[in-house]
Amino acid sequence: MTGRLAGKTAIVTGSSSGLGRAIATAYAREGARVCCVDLYPNLRNAINPETGKADDINNRVSTGVPTHEFLVQQFGGKHIYVRADVTVAADVEAAVATCVRELGRLDIMANNAGISVESTHVRVLRVHETSESDYDKTMAINAKSIFLGCKYAIQQMLKQEPLPNCNGDKGWIVNTASVQGYVGYLGTPSYCASKGAAVQLTKQVALDYGPDRIHCNALCPGFLKTAMTQNLQGDAEVLKGINAAHPLGGMGDPEDVARAAVFLASDDARWITGVPLPVDGGFLTQ
Ligand code: NAD
Repeated sequence: MTGRLAGKTAIVTGSSSGLGRAIATAYAREGARVCCVDLYPNLRNAINPETGKADDINNRVSTGVPTHEFLVQQFGGKHIYVRADVTVAADVEAAVATCVRELGRLDIMANNAGISVESTHVRVLRVHETSESDYDKTMAINAKSIFLGCKYAIQQMLKQEPLPNCNGDKGWIVNTASVQGYVGYLGTPSYCASKGAAVQLTKQVALDYGPDRIHCNALCPGFLKTAMTQNLQGDAEVLKGINAAHPLGGMGDPEDVARAAVFLASDDARWITGVPLPVDGGFLTQ
């Protein structure tokens, strides 16, 4: 721990699993107080007893130590959990209010919660085969959530005095997009559309709130070893393709991306805003 986020308070959405849990852990390790936001305090895909695989992204079970409790055990200090559906304005507004009431302020907003409906299908789905409900659901959880997270976080950040020794900066927003915010990927139309929206909204917020000293950047990860890609991880053919697509090899560890999330929320990124940052093992080089 180097204390790069000491004195800061962060909300991390989608904190109960995968990349969100890794970001919450990295933020707490660097000295931030973390407000963990998710539908459940801790969960993973339920295993289908017939296939032995976790094949339904909504079929989640609560398990193990909730993220906020894990942070308290590992790093001490105060970390909390707030239940919220990131597609519901009242939930997001209430999560920000609870964070401020319990932890004192809000400096970092990591809008990370997301889904990939395509990863739950056994074959690729092009636009003409994609259901309207899958498209709407993906846009709500991956894109509208970023609008809501930015909106309520910024309302709070604008009211706050900047922390001392932070260059007058008032806030750091870190949105989780994807390499699919840059490029198309076979059979993932809703996901690509939602991540493109996340990238554009990031630039817009950076432009509008730069004068208020609020930073807004995005993470664009390549494929990661999380519940989201669980169905791909057991398929040797698919893995060969994924390996070839990432010059640094294999699927990334969420921890690899969490390091970049720390950078974008730290004073090291003091002259950086509006950037969709690839953290992708070189995926976007080809
Ligand atoms: P994950 O499925 O492990 O975790 C997603 C988390 O978001 C879960 O805890 C889930 O409960 C939460 N969530 C989903 N819908 C929600 C809602 N409506 N309200 C509140 N919380 C909700 O997936 P992950 O791989 O950790 O994904 C995290 C982010 O990273 C997503 O935005 C995803 O698109 C992005 N991403 C993932 C990969 C990858 O390969 N796994 C690659 C690039 C980007």
